[in-house]
Amino acid sequence: MAMPRYEYRCRSCGTQFELSRPMAASGDPAVCPAGHEDSVKLLSTVAVAVAGGTGSPAAAGPAPAAGGGGGCCGGGCCG
Ligand SMILES: [Zn+2]
Repeated sequence: MAMPRYEYRCRSCGTQFELSRPMAASGDPAVCPAGHEDSVKLLSTVAVAVAGGTGSPAAAGPAPAAGGGGGCCGGGCCG
């Protein structure tokens, strides 16, 4: 299972870096590549890798015909 990526920025040296970690750990402190622990998580687009080549998503199934003739109201039971 692919882990989401989170972007962080180091407040000590300004380096911006990404980490792949479980969502449960998204709020954990992230150490920048230079070793600083004072980093902030950026609210950026979370890129989750999607496995390709699995074909088209399953159809939602046949939609029931709405309205139309017949049915209760067409038979006179509704007045
Ligand atoms: Zn740093």
